[in-house]
Amino acid sequence: MLTRRTLFLLMGGTALAAGGVAASRVGVQPEPPAPPATDAGGHLLWRNWSGIQTAYPASRAAPADEGELADLVRKAPGPIRAVGAGHSFMPLVPTPGTLVTLDRMAGLDGHDADALTASVRAGTRLADLGPALSAIGQEMPNLPDINKQSLAGALSTATHGTGVDFKALHGNVLRSAW
Ligand SMILES: Cc1cc2nc3c(=O)[nH]c(=O)nc-3n(C[C@H](O)[C@H](O)[C@H](O)COP(=O)(O)OP(=O)(O)OC[C@H]3O[C@@H](n4cnc5c(N)ncnc54)[C@H](O)[C@@H]3O)c2cc1C
Repeated sequence: MLTRRTLFLLMGGTALAAGGVAASRVGVQPEPPAPPATDAGGHLLWRNWSGIQTAYPASRAAPADEGELADLVRKAPGPIRAVGAGHSFMPLVPTPGTLVTLDRMAGLDGHDADALTASVRAGTRLADLGPALSAIGQEMPNLPDINKQSLAGALSTATHGTGVDFKALHGNVLRSAW
C-alpha cells in the first residue's frame, strides 16, 4: 500500500511543485536502506517520522520538571537538542550529544475562563491538548492535518492549518516561557 511516508520517500523529499515529475517517479525509486539500530558505540538510532533524518545521540533524557531540566542543561553532553514527535523534515533534531524530550512536562498549567486563554506546557501533544482544552470550554482556533506534534515542535516550525483567515499556531501565543 502506498502510505504518506512511502510517497514522501519515493519523491526523494522534493517539493510537490515538481508535480508530474514527482508523480512519474512513484514506484521507481526504492526507499533508502534503514541505518543500523546501533552505532559502534552501542548508541541507539533515532530517526524522524520520514526516516530521512537520523542520529546516534550519546545520551537521552526526559526531565520531569524545570529542576531536572536545568540540571541536565548544566551536565549533559552537548549539543543538546529538544525533540517533540520527530515529525519535522529538516535536520533540526539530530545530535551526537543529548536528545531531550519534554514528554513528561506536558499538560495544562492553568487557564483564564474570561479571557479564554490557557497556559500549556511545551511537551503537550496536540492530540492531548484538544480534550484538555475541551474540559475547560476552550479549543484551538485551527490545527494542522495531523495531531501527533508536540506544542513546542509545532510552534517552533510555524505549523499551520488551512484557511486564509487563520494564523499559524504560533500566531495565537500570548506569552512564551521557553
Ligand atoms: C504526516 C505529517 C503531517 C504534517 N502536517 C502538517 C500540517 O498540516 N501543517 C504544518 O504546518 N506542518 C505539518 N507537518 C509538519 C509538522 O507539524 C512540524 O514538522 C512540527 O515541527 C512537528 O512537531 P514535532 O513535535 O514533531 O517537532 P520535532 O520535529 O520533534 O521538532 C521540531 C523543532 O522543534 C524543536 N522542539 C521540539 N520540542 C521542543 C521543546 N520542548 N522546546 C524547544 N524546542 C523544541 C526541535 O528542537 C526542532 O527544532 C506535518 C508533518 C508530518 C510528518
